[in-house]
Amino acid sequence: MTELRSIDAPSRGDDLVYLAAFQQLVLERSHDLITVTDPVGTIIYASPSWQTVLGWEPDALVGTPVTELVHPDDRARAAAGIGAVAVAGEVDGMTARFKARDGRWVALESSGTPILDADGTVTHLLGTARDVSEREELRRRVEELDALYRIADVIARAGSLDELFGEAVETLIATTAADRASVLLSDEEGVMRFTAWSGLSDAYRAAAEGHSPWPPDAVDPQPVLVADVADAGFEPELERVVTAEGIGSLAFIPLIHDGVLLGKFMLYRNERHEWSEGEVRLCRTIANHLASATVRARTRMALRDSRLQLETIMRNVDEGIIVQSASGVVYANGSAARIIGFESAEAFLAADRTEVLDRFEMLSDDGEPLAVEELPGRRALRGETSERLIRYRVRATGEEGWSVVRANPVRGVDGEVILSVSVIHDVTEARIAQQRVDFLARASEMLNATLDVQQTLGALATLAVPAFAGHVTVDQYEDGVLRCVGARHVDPAKTQLMIELRREYPPTKPEHPVQRALATGQVQFVADVQAEAESMAHDERHAEAIRELANTSGIVVPLAARGRTFGAITFGSVPPQPPFTEQDLALAIEIGRRASIALDNALLYAEADERARATEALEFVDDGVVLVDRDEVVRLLNPAASRVFGVKPQKAIGRRIDDLLHDWANVRERIASTSGPRRAELLPLMIGGEEHWLSISAVPFAGGTVYAFRDVTEERAVEQLKSDFVSTVSHELRTPLAAIYGAALTLQRDDVELAESQRTGLLDVISNEADRLARIVNDILWASRLDSGQMALAIESCDAVSLATRVVDALRAHAPETVTLSVEAPSALPAVAADSDKLRGVLTNLVDNAVKYSPDGGHVRISLHQMGNRVRIRVSDRGLGIPPAEQARIFEKFFRLDPNLTRGVGGTGLGLYICRELVHRMHGRIWVVSDGRRGSTFTVELPVAQ
Ligand code: ADP
Repeated sequence: MTELRSIDAPSRGDDLVYLAAFQQLVLERSHDLITVTDPVGTIIYASPSWQTVLGWEPDALVGTPVTELVHPDDRARAAAGIGAVAVAGEVDGMTARFKARDGRWVALESSGTPILDADGTVTHLLGTARDVSEREELRRRVEELDALYRIADVIARAGSLDELFGEAVETLIATTAADRASVLLSDEEGVMRFTAWSGLSDAYRAAAEGHSPWPPDAVDPQPVLVADVADAGFEPELERVVTAEGIGSLAFIPLIHDGVLLGKFMLYRNERHEWSEGEVRLCRTIANHLASATVRARTRMALRDSRLQLETIMRNVDEGIIVQSASGVVYANGSAARIIGFESAEAFLAADRTEVLDRFEMLSDDGEPLAVEELPGRRALRGETSERLIRYRVRATGEEGWSVVRANPVRGVDGEVILSVSVIHDVTEARIAQQRVDFLARASEMLNATLDVQQTLGALATLAVPAFAGHVTVDQYEDGVLRCVGARHVDPAKTQLMIELRREYPPTKPEHPVQRALATGQVQFVADVQAEAESMAHDERHAEAIRELANTSGIVVPLAARGRTFGAITFGSVPPQPPFTEQDLALAIEIGRRASIALDNALLYAEADERARATEALEFVDDGVVLVDRDEVVRLLNPAASRVFGVKPQKAIGRRIDDLLHDWANVRERIASTSGPRRAELLPLMIGGEEHWLSISAVPFAGGTVYAFRDVTEERAVEQLKSDFVSTVSHELRTPLAAIYGAALTLQRDDVELAESQRTGLLDVISNEADRLARIVNDILWASRLDSGQMALAIESCDAVSLATRVVDALRAHAPETVTLSVEAPSALPAVAADSDKLRGVLTNLVDNAVKYSPDGGHVRISLHQMGNRVRIRVSDRGLGIPPAEQARIFEKFFRLDPNLTRGVGGTGLGLYICRELVHRMHGRIWVVSDGRRGSTFTVELPVAQ
């Protein structure tokens, strides 16, 4: 625009008048809004376009400050522009919103130029402006779109929710006019928590968290716009916090997905601010995006987490997992790949399926070929769930393996099978171990089944092929000569070849592994037989034959025992069986060891064959007979000895007797020390944890010793009982007798004057002790009657309570003062079916014991109660108690816990025996409960009388 010097300036000539008219025309016709103001921006002139663009009457505007017409948000900028022009500056292309007469806001792009007087002083300001609202609208739309793209991009790139919201906050600030922004999400309780924010202090977030303009279950919540915090009507505390944070205006935009309020995001401005419709719309659009992205991200992350977990599990389990569809393997974990013979799952997945299957020969458990269609994975694709043990052989190596495979179909939405999941559990090692154990067990059984040398060795050959080896040869070594006594090859046609070969070319060369084994007594391992064929062979034909036998590796185990060499067993591996390993070596040695023992036995047996006939008689004698050789190894054990020792002859023969009977050394020593005429010794021997008494004699001979014995444990126990009984009873009788005798003597004396009380005291002693004597005698009598079956019982209905009361009353008189006695019973206790006389005996015994074994006194309590159709009579004391280990034995005849009377309490050991026998005869039960320390409780249980 050309510079105008002054509109009001007087014309200086025609040209100027012309110019003024022209200028006027331009002003009138221009689409631009042309305005002249004074230096502070008050309108002096407004062109007609003010009317057409904004609806204002130009003349009416004169005197109005321009800034009054500018949108409050743009006002500061407009004022600054005016200020700049007023000091002779220029403003170009400033966009601001102007108020139209109808209240609309119209974007105008303005330029400002100063009008100077001759001195260069600014007298007026000239402004021109263009309506750019369409352009502005377009720009805003583009910005909005741009913002949406940015949000969409953020959503697409975000790896986690935190990242998503962090980016969203940045984008919100960049695309709206906000100074700060935040995102809050509802937690489980519906409380909105800050998830991402920019420019908010910790204190503000702490104070503002939880405030929400909408209830958690709000239906269709709308944005809440606060143009000026001061007018918002917030609670005073919240308002204080918001103001302190320097926030002038804010907007709450709800995050809604599927009608559910997920959270909100917030825009903040430092100044007061009228939030425009465009801003709100943009915010809501972004909010919608964010809300659905939140839900999607949450689901995706949950899915990813669970998939990750699953992946980790699958990767780490030992079981192989294969997922396949009709067209091939879809997934396999590392274990599956390893079981199938691949380095990694990737390698397995990349391999061709038919080619993989061709690597194996699939067999069922019993060795029958298995069709691919029968594999559980394939069956699962047909909809069947199955599990089976699969034996497979790797064609390339001949190696065998076993797997338990379980497969399940996975169905699609329509129920059709889309995948099968197979779980493969490799049980090869367990199977091999099991086979070895089985083989060893069968070998031992066979070896011990016969005492015929040749038969034994032959059997071994039969057993080992094919369970353990491809071929086996057994060579017997006798008087310097090797003789093949057994041979077998997996290929029956070759068995004959082997036998002939051995006959023609016995393994006599010193380099031959059999010779090496015999010479050194050490097992020989030949890793590559074919490589050594030349050195083993006698001539080319021999070498040729060795090649024909085709064994790959070999093990030779010497058979030797007790310094004698019997021969050697040769095991050979024949393809497809893989060559022998360390483990095979260990097994071979074990077989050799067992075979050696069996051979040793067989040989010894053969030697002793004639003598054996004589020993046949031993089968029938009642005395135990054991023959041990000079090494104390059992060579013969007759049935009677086997019974006493509790060991089968098969198990015992060949083992050292000390291994069978750990304290046999005592027997040997005692017998060896008895010189002179051979006599049977009575010796204790621990057998199976119990003491047995043997009457044993020994006869040495050149090859060893024969022991003959009888088990006299029972006889000895009876003897012991008898002698115990005599000593206990005599002791028990002597004590009361001495007391009676003493009292009677004192009473008889006429040289001493006895007070009446002393006399009664002595008479009491006599009567009490006589009573005790009577009880002892009674016990002995009852015990002997019970033993001889002469105890007659008369079962009738008895009142157990009154019986117990009478027993207690009678015993109370003799009981020491420290002991108190009581009887407790419910009022309505039914009568019991018993022999009242015998039941009284039983109770007397129990109560008497309770008193007797309570040396420190205490309460003895007899209680009775009903248990269904039985009545229980309980006698409990607080005395010495009975250790649990002895509780069964105290009911045995003569058994006493303290036979040596260290506690000073005497007795015959018959009482409880009698109690038990009587209670049983009355169809009842008796038992004791005690922890061995704090008293005992004896219970007698009897049937209720009908
Ligand atoms: P004894 O004549 O020795 O009492 P019993 O047959 O009545 O014979 O009892 C056998 C053993 O049981 C006793 O020697 C005693 O060691 C133990 N015994 C019996 N009753 C009790 C009891 N109430 N408290 C502790 N020990 C008891």
